[in-house]
Amino acid sequence: MTPERLKKLMILLVDDAPTNIQMLNETLKDGYHLFFATNGRDALRIAAETLPDLILLDVIMPDMDGYEVCRILKADPLMKDIPIIFITAMNQQEDEAIGLELGAVDYITKPFNPTIVRLRIRNQIKLKRQRDILTRLSNLDGLTGIPNRRCIDETLEREWRRGIRSCKPISLLMIDIDYFKAYNDSCGHLAGDDCLRAVAQALDDSMGRAADFVGRYGGEEFLAILPETNEEGALFVANDMQNEVAKLAIQHPATPLGKQITLSIGIATAIPYRENEFTSLLQEADKMLYQAKQEGRNRIVASPITAC
Ligand code: GH3
Ligand code: MG
Ligand code: MG
Repeated sequence: MTPERLKKLMILLVDDAPTNIQMLNETLKDGYHLFFATNGRDALRIAAETLPDLILLDVIMPDMDGYEVCRILKADPLMKDIPIIFITAMNQQEDEAIGLELGAVDYITKPFNPTIVRLRIRNQIKLKRQRDILTRLSNLDGLTGIPNRRCIDETLEREWRRGIRSCKPISLLMIDIDYFKAYNDSCGHLAGDDCLRAVAQALDDSMGRAADFVGRYGGEEFLAILPETNEEGALFVANDMQNEVAKLAIQHPATPLGKQITLSIGIATAIPYRENEFTSLLQEADKMLYQAKQEGRNRIVASPITAC
């Protein structure tokens, strides 16, 4: 089992009546890591801090009721997928409908039966795990196991917005394997696939900071997104990528550049200030890659920093 699976799952219990929290605590404390809140505001703060695996949410609370807490959670991109189970004394069907309409996954009415509560929670957590696995898989490239184009697009958009807020430069590296068609032709498609996997791993190993990101853009092309990184930092990473790939020493019998697989890399850096202008930066990185190819391949070409 991975350490991830050995970790106790986290549940946030939200109820303004301490006796209810105590009862739930008794019911669940053996199986889960529990957090508590007795009002809506604390619930939102703790949820944002801990990103629990599930929230048990009381409906009727002073100030901010459970429905409002649920609405705010569902509007937050980071917290919208945390399953919410409403737990309340009300047992009218309309209330249940409101809760489910807001995106809650289940509804438990008080007074509750501890066994039922435990089983319902276990079911929801199982479903969440399956959803998490599917989300992870849909973001990964099947051949190389690194992020795919869809994940690249989402990451770029998110990092661009973050860059606008922070006013820090962002660098893009467009990376392409040289003479890869000739490699496939001389070594076979399966060797080509192995090569792509090894290069992807080497590129991934070159990512130094937590926010650095590299994915497979398509074919034998990769894109790295380096937030808060200027041209100098981007050049450093690009050099490291070339070194890592040289260390793989993948023999390429048909390249005119020596004997091994090599990379061409185009770099573009900008301080973002306009929504969605990351497409211009992407084009610029592509232009630099084209130039690297024109100038003979196995090289890095960087454009001066821009604002877009
Ligand atoms: P350049 O130096 O100009 O980049 O030349 P190149 O041959 O690398 O570029 P080109 O775009 O002509 O060819 C890319 C090749 O990459 C052609 C295609 O068959 C191969 N390719 C794309 N995806 C895969 C894949 O998943 N597996 C394998 N084995 N080959 C792939
Ligand atoms: Mg190529
Ligand atoms: Mg290509």
